[in-house]
Amino acid sequence: MMHFDVLTLFPEMFAAVDTSIVGRAREKGLVEFNFVNIRDFSNDKHNKADDYPFGGGPGMLMMADPIFGAMGSVDAGHKKVIYMSPRGRVIDKDKLVDLSREEELVILCGHYEGVDQRALDYWDAEEISIGDYVLTGGELPAMVLIDALARLVPGVLASEEAATEESIYSGLLEYPQYTKPRNYQGMEVPEVLTNGNHKLIHLWNFEEALKLTRDLRPDLFEEFVKNHRELNKDEQKVMEKVINML
Ligand code: SAM
Repeated sequence: MMHFDVLTLFPEMFAAVDTSIVGRAREKGLVEFNFVNIRDFSNDKHNKADDYPFGGGPGMLMMADPIFGAMGSVDAGHKKVIYMSPRGRVIDKDKLVDLSREEELVILCGHYEGVDQRALDYWDAEEISIGDYVLTGGELPAMVLIDALARLVPGVLASEEAATEESIYSGLLEYPQYTKPRNYQGMEVPEVLTNGNHKLIHLWNFEEALKLTRDLRPDLFEEFVKNHRELNKDEQKVMEKVINML
């Protein structure tokens, strides 16, 4: 079970994360959300939560006080706190696996030009980015983080292997897949996938995954060739074939 306290000025945006697989995971009690509206902790009579930055500069900053109130309300002093931020380390599978060990996470979503630095320093927030570009707010990045973490919670995906078998997690990109009908407008499903020979299907999948990774992500391919999991003889042959096709 993983519990997320999400501190945001726009809790209504999070309807998107509570649907489909993650929504079902919440219904089953595998993930839990507590969306906190930072504005509710404003002590200003107009519920103001942002102000001009000292020293000038463009835009507005989220004020420390409402964030302190929201953090206190979720007991953030005893939890791991994350601030979604383009300044942070760009999230990857290793970082996700690391974070998935936490049972509780507090996620602070910035907006406007960001937040008063004192709110980050005091609550010891780790900054995490979803990529080297800037969005208008931390809500979409937080949803990306929550979705990616929820998939790693045992029981959320149909089978335990599903998460590790997929692109990136297995070290390779995923092979092409097909579903019914077998012939769609003259385009046939590869014969090998329809003959029920699981060993041949596995080797075909492995070869296609290797070829795709070699062509689309040579960096991952090089890493896989250097540090791959233990391969059986047939897999080894397939890999040598793909390397020699370079
Ligand atoms: N002035 C900030 C800077 O230059 O670092 C950018 C502020 S951005 C317009 C507003 C908010 O969106 C940020 O406080 C952060 O919470 C969120 N955000 C924007 N881009 C992000 C990214 N790539 N990853 C994670 N959060 C991001």
